[in-house]
Amino acid sequence: MKYLILLGDGMADYPLPDYGDRTPIEIANTTAMDMVAQKGVLGQFCPIPEGMPPGSDIGNLSMFGYDPRNAFNGRAPIEAASQGISLAPDEVAFRCNLVSILDGVMESFTANHISTEEAAPIIDSLNEALTDKYPVRFHSGVSYRHLCIVKASETASLEALNTLACEPPHNITDQEVAPYLPQGDAAVMLHEIMTKAREVLRDHPVNKQRQAAENLPATNIWLWGQGTAPKMRSYAEKFGISGAVISAVDLVRGMGVCAGLEVVHVPGATGWVDTNYEGKVQAGLKALERHDFVFIHLEAPDETAHQGRADLKIQAIEDFDRKIVAPSLAWQENHPDSRILVAPDHFTLISTKTHAGGPVPFAICGAGVTPNNASCYSEAAAAATGILLQEGHRLVQRLIQDKTLNFQ
Ligand SMILES: [Zn+2]
Repeated sequence: MKYLILLGDGMADYPLPDYGDRTPIEIANTTAMDMVAQKGVLGQFCPIPEGMPPGSDIGNLSMFGYDPRNAFNGRAPIEAASQGISLAPDEVAFRCNLVSILDGVMESFTANHISTEEAAPIIDSLNEALTDKYPVRFHSGVSYRHLCIVKASETASLEALNTLACEPPHNITDQEVAPYLPQGDAAVMLHEIMTKAREVLRDHPVNKQRQAAENLPATNIWLWGQGTAPKMRSYAEKFGISGAVISAVDLVRGMGVCAGLEVVHVPGATGWVDTNYEGKVQAGLKALERHDFVFIHLEAPDETAHQGRADLKIQAIEDFDRKIVAPSLAWQENHPDSRILVAPDHFTLISTKTHAGGPVPFAICGAGVTPNNASCYSEAAAAATGILLQEGHRLVQRLIQDKTLNFQ
């Protein structure tokens, strides 16, 4: 059996008053996802366990079949794994966003999607300026997503670093940042690092160029999502299968590394609406020739919702449907011993520009799946089925382990 997960990050949403109280999935033309629901089973599941924050870290862990309540140890260490950075036992990895804060307000948690090429010299400058004074090192990643590794010291113990309350910057778009700075025993050092970084960024040549081009400068770094090295059992141990993951996002690739999966890099995978959809699905279907399991992750529905852009989110969902789901269904025609799962990892709401928890729709079609006569793939249609898996990670466990899939 072959297993294909197609993940539209943050695709689920609430009804939009400006669009006749329909959700982006309902507005978008989603023929292929509807077909998955019609041919197979539609239902709801909760990728975010009760009481946990509705982040992509938690949601995607569930989508890989890991219980976030046991496996979750912060997002940054997973991203570090994806970059081949190993953490010493006394080191804590923080996600380091390049952000634009204007007049104390979080204008852009992505520094307006700063390019990887622009970001790299900025991260170099941070290393030059800060590594002598503080027990830190910076590693550049993709676009605005970087890492800051902090070694525990007398001023900031491992425990203190690990337990700092750090706000994800995508939760505070258009808000005053001051109340959301890291809080806890190690906060003083973190604030110092963030302040020194601001000084490095202020006159940075990359920012001069961006301002000359009337683009937002990357004014600050924002540290969050910290943790120590993760402990996850590999897919070979857990399920006895091999697999691959395709994503533009370090976090998701890192989960793949931690799960012992092959990380397939696709040129032009950007995490934005201009991503190389065709390349991703082709690479995914090719990987299924050598693996049992493939996870294709698409970030664009989430990012567009964070910007509050309903039009772009609808476009991203349509592109996901037409360019990722449709070719996968065509592939299944010739590979009947397979299952395709389509789902988001959480809600990302146009109305609030941030994530929300709660049950989201899934659809599975393929071998051994008992259909439940769904007509289309949507939040409301999934709710109407009465199928609800409270423990989201069990959905993928059952996808892989159950000979027949009947959720009734
Ligand atoms: Zn997500």
